[in-house]
Amino acid sequence: MLEHLTGARTNSFFRRRNSRLIFVPIVTIGIAATLLAVLATIWAGAESDVAALERQKALVTAKLADQVNQMARDVAMVAAGYASLLPDNTSDGARADRREAQVFGETVTEVFDFEQLLLVDDDGELLSDGDPAIARRYQWVRPLLANLFSKVRDGRYQAAIRGELSPSISAEMLRLEGRASIVAISSVIFDGERGEPGGMPTPRAPHYLIGFRFLDGTILDDLSREMGLKGARYARTTDAEDGEVAFQVEASANGDPIGVIIWSPDLPGSKVIERLTPYLCAAIAVIGGLFLLLVLRLNRSWKELHRSEQHARELALQDVLTHLPNRDLFSRRLKECFTSTLSDASIVVGFIDLDRFKAVNDSFGHAAGDELIIKAAERMNEVLDGRGTLARLGGDEFAILLPVRRHELAAQIGIFEAIVSAIDRPFALRQGEVTAHIGCSIGIAFSTHHDCLPEELLRRADVAVYQAKAKGRGRHVVYDAEIETGQRERERLIEELRTELSQIEAASLSGRMADALYHSALEVHFQTIHRAGEEHHVTGAEALVRWRHPRLGLLSPDKFIPLAESTGLIAPLGDYILEQACRIGLTKLQDKMIAVNISPMQLRHEGFADRVLTTLQRTGFPSSCLELELTETALVDNPQQAKEILGRLRNAGIKIALDDFGTGYSSLSHLIHFGIDRIKIDRSFVRLLDTQSNGAAIAAAVTSLARNLGMETTAEGVETQGQRDFLIAIGCTDLQGYLFSRPVAADDLMIGDSDCPQHALRSSAS
Ligand code: C2E
Ligand code: CA
Ligand code: CA
Repeated sequence: MLEHLTGARTNSFFRRRNSRLIFVPIVTIGIAATLLAVLATIWAGAESDVAALERQKALVTAKLADQVNQMARDVAMVAAGYASLLPDNTSDGARADRREAQVFGETVTEVFDFEQLLLVDDDGELLSDGDPAIARRYQWVRPLLANLFSKVRDGRYQAAIRGELSPSISAEMLRLEGRASIVAISSVIFDGERGEPGGMPTPRAPHYLIGFRFLDGTILDDLSREMGLKGARYARTTDAEDGEVAFQVEASANGDPIGVIIWSPDLPGSKVIERLTPYLCAAIAVIGGLFLLLVLRLNRSWKELHRSEQHARELALQDVLTHLPNRDLFSRRLKECFTSTLSDASIVVGFIDLDRFKAVNDSFGHAAGDELIIKAAERMNEVLDGRGTLARLGGDEFAILLPVRRHELAAQIGIFEAIVSAIDRPFALRQGEVTAHIGCSIGIAFSTHHDCLPEELLRRADVAVYQAKAKGRGRHVVYDAEIETGQRERERLIEELRTELSQIEAASLSGRMADALYHSALEVHFQTIHRAGEEHHVTGAEALVRWRHPRLGLLSPDKFIPLAESTGLIAPLGDYILEQACRIGLTKLQDKMIAVNISPMQLRHEGFADRVLTTLQRTGFPSSCLELELTETALVDNPQQAKEILGRLRNAGIKIALDDFGTGYSSLSHLIHFGIDRIKIDRSFVRLLDTQSNGAAIAAAVTSLARNLGMETTAEGVETQGQRDFLIAIGCTDLQGYLFSRPVAADDLMIGDSDCPQHALRSSAS
């Protein structure tokens, strides 16, 4: 469920986003490039079409102007012909000549392809007689020609005034009889008017020749033929059909529209496009295909890249030994869980700390330690059965993340109970060669309605696991704010202890420690140890530290030794206790044994043996009267180092006692390997003597073992005479317990001649 909620979803989200980042631009570029190519082709085609069209229109304009000029030339030429033919009105053969001129006119009309040729006088009256149809026709067109005619007539008079004898000619386009026409008018210059050489010119009545041609007929045919204007036709209005263009013809004189020339233009651009289209389509298809291929390829390599990246990332986020998520992945998932779970959901975090793992690692080797970690992870996974995430945070620390509904919270606590039981079962390691008994401490914290940040949740789980360990391990503790109060109190105590120790250090440096009057809040009390004979005389005393705390009263070592151990303060504290024990021992326990407890951390602290030996030197306490009490834990953490240190100390005459024997490894090999002088039978066995027979059996076994190894035994916590008698009976050498004396302050320690058990007057701890 968590997988679904967290990692997978964000990963696929990022993948989709990244692939979109790559593919969208590629596809866009592809489409844009294709579109651009198509548009460019169409644009180029259209542009060349426009240019072609413009060219054709310019050609039409030029051709029309040509036609107008040609018409002017033609009419002028014919007018010159007329001049030689037309009779002088005065001559006799005038009538015959006029007929001749008429025949000439008909001939040239046909030859020059005029629509009509008309000879008029200075008033614009028609001179040709006879044909009434022509006269009628002239009557129709005469008003339309008026302007042109007066222009030519004016021209003729101007020329005459200037003495020039060239004809006055003018031509233009007009709409005649509803059709576009070119009209030319030329004055006729008679031969006589040019004058004979040496003679005076003979003035004649002015004549003018009018000629016109329709534009639509042969002229358009010529245009079609000569200029390639396909299907050129004339129309009054713009009624071009699809694929045709219309060209407005305007009257040259007044700019009035006189008609439209329509033709199917030759459009090279369109032709090119038309021809190119199949190739273009094929090219687009090929490019599109290539693009698709490219995109598919890219997509595939993208996926492969993503897979390998994912794999690398998974490896980086995985614990190598157990293949569980590591610390990084765990905190990432926790954060994701916070952002993705509904606010009515709860997030449960459990910190699991394996108890006594280090001892297994040290005793059975690292391979066995690794095996144990893997097996423990397997057992936890079995319990989880797919619920939540199990991560290895490092070393022997694991964590569980469970997103749950609120009402399921109680059930989730059951999971942690099951984990505690699962880890409590023995582990067979090295193919059954050895068996490890560990256990685990679990701290549980949960957040409902996202009431705290992920970091805070982790901190709370950490506080709870600390609490679980402090409560004696092998259990789970659910965080609640009161633990915090305890935690704060612990932190405060640590600070106070630190202050206390720095004061001690200052006293030590100034030499005040040796002063009999020197007093610290950290007091060393003593509990006497008695010979197991009839007299029970005192053989020594165990130094037990107490803290006369101004606020909390007299604190027993359980309240502050663990704090000193976890903060490193145990080294200066231990040194101080040893020194005090020696000083007090010198004055109060002449020649008797002083037993001083040494915590495992203290032993591991650098220069421990040197400091013990210097303390002995400084105080003058005989080394043969000093016994150091160690637990097995102190030995297994770094056996080689422990052996060396103990060897040095024993060589100096110091005795070594193994404290709390029977509760830890109770290993025979430890007794032999490290050279132990004394075994202290733990008081938990002594307590069982009265009630359970196996307590008696263990005590008897340990005593006999010690005797066989030539060691002494001290039974701790002897409270009843029954216990005392039994312990004496099984051969225990020394006894210690409330039956003889409680631990007392140094001032109250009195060892009389009789070594009576009632020496200790006041008890210092309950
Ligand atoms: P331990 O070394 O096993 O010390 C014996 C403990 O048993 C003492 O508790 C003592 O008061 C208690 N005891 C003695 N006789 C009886 C009895 O008849 N009945 C009962 N119920 N208890 C008895 P204390 O002084 O509270 O010390 C507790 C532990 O604190 C010690 O256990 C030792 O592990 C540690 N400790 C005490 N002083 C020092 C010290 O100076 N340095 C270090 N490193 N640890 C110390
Ligand atoms: Ca002890
Ligand atoms: Ca003990």
